[in-house]
Amino acid sequence: MFIANWKMNGSLPMLFHWLEEASKTLDKSAQKKCILCPPACFLYEASNMIKGKELSISLGAQNIDSTVIPSLTGGIDGVMLKELGAKYVLIGHSERRKFFNEENQLLLEKLQSASKEGLRIIFCIGESLKDKEEGKTIKVLKQQLGILNDAGLNKFMVAYEPVWAIGSGEIPKLEDIENIHKQIIEEVGSFRKEGFLGVLYGGSVDSFNSRQILSLKGVQGLLIGGASLECKEFCNVVLGNNQN
Ligand code: PEP
Repeated sequence: MFIANWKMNGSLPMLFHWLEEASKTLDKSAQKKCILCPPACFLYEASNMIKGKELSISLGAQNIDSTVIPSLTGGIDGVMLKELGAKYVLIGHSERRKFFNEENQLLLEKLQSASKEGLRIIFCIGESLKDKEEGKTIKVLKQQLGILNDAGLNKFMVAYEPVWAIGSGEIPKLEDIENIHKQIIEEVGSFRKEGFLGVLYGGSVDSFNSRQILSLKGVQGLLIGGASLECKEFCNVVLGNNQN
């Protein structure tokens, strides 16, 4: 799968042009591998445009709120996300972990809310530079994965995104990506097999490095931030049009 995470970017004209470009460049089978995650305020319009253009691209939300506090001003729950057209939801992205203090208890509640509504989950994990330098990568990833054990999930994938690689233009050594994916697959497999859709890599992916990363064993897709804003570049990644 190829996930376009627009973060806090985009506009209605951009959405229109992006989907127009995607419809011209990607055939149906390529579209089926794509999940567009625009800001929540554009999901409904994106869903209508996708229907109108008869595209096979899926939509994902970048966030979901826990329903433990039912009267939450500004909250958006899983029922609403589905109504807006989302089929997937990102949970545990490092920016939300960092800036909104999203820790295990809250993430568990979010996983449960999403699963209850049948949303497919893209659960993001990743080590900080400090964790990496201290040799704690695998320990940290296992701790982050631990809550999947308690969550009673519907269908989910794990996105391995080293925090230091996000938006930095740096990626881990290819052998490290392969080795870490292997360990994530083993760890998830040790407690849960049902509904596990695989592990994706994210962090400074673009059309220069995507083909090599995708060729690694255990890498079943890519989560793309900055390089997904330009539809042509995103399509190059999806089509394997390597710039190297
Ligand atoms: C992300 O935000 O999930 C991400 C991978 O960003 P970028 O591709 O810009 O590093």
